[in-house]
Amino acid sequence: MDGNSAREPGEPTGFLAGWCSSSAASARRPRNARHFAAVRAGVFASVLAVAFALRRLGVGVFEATALGAAFGIVGVGVMAAVSGRLGYMVHCTSYCPIGLASNTIGRINPFRVHIGEGCDECRACTASCRYAALNIEHIRRRRPGITCTLCGDCLAACDKRQIHYRFPELTREQARTAFLVLVAVLHAVFLGVARI
Ligand code: SF4
Ligand code: SF4
Repeated sequence: MDGNSAREPGEPTGFLAGWCSSSAASARRPRNARHFAAVRAGVFASVLAVAFALRRLGVGVFEATALGAAFGIVGVGVMAAVSGRLGYMVHCTSYCPIGLASNTIGRINPFRVHIGEGCDECRACTASCRYAALNIEHIRRRRPGITCTLCGDCLAACDKRQIHYRFPELTREQARTAFLVLVAVLHAVFLGVARI
């Protein structure tokens, strides 16, 4: 599994790409990708506050479900109108509260994407990241931003092979293989559970 495949930088990496990657946002290269952390934190806090308020007010299941559906429809609107136009996952990196929760909880995961010291900060990889996780600040500190999903899209974008998966005590090749095996197993397990 060579990270420098013939795949164009920015294209989804098969099963490594999440369901979000099927959106219109994956059709274009990201330009000026930014992660609006404050917006997403505000949405997250608002969702929690509304959920608790609905509970305290005794709002019915139908009304609560309708509100949840409306929130989801707004997200689809952000995906279509903003992510599709800008070419990166604005709905994921700056709107979806689940994205914030998974990015935060995901830090427990020992797998990381790392940028090597041989990086010359050319920024060729920036446009390959549809999650706004490879801006110049991230490149300078040699690790992607918190919105990184470990999708692997950026690996092929660096012709100096400076981007790689990292796992404690493993070489970069072993870490990549271990990550691919883990993702394949998880997909198989969850698909199997879904069928049951
Ligand atoms: S990781 Fe590679 S592509 Fe990205 S800035 Fe560094 S040298 Fe350039
Ligand atoms: S930095 Fe993370 S999210 Fe962005 S392309 Fe690389 S692996 Fe994917």
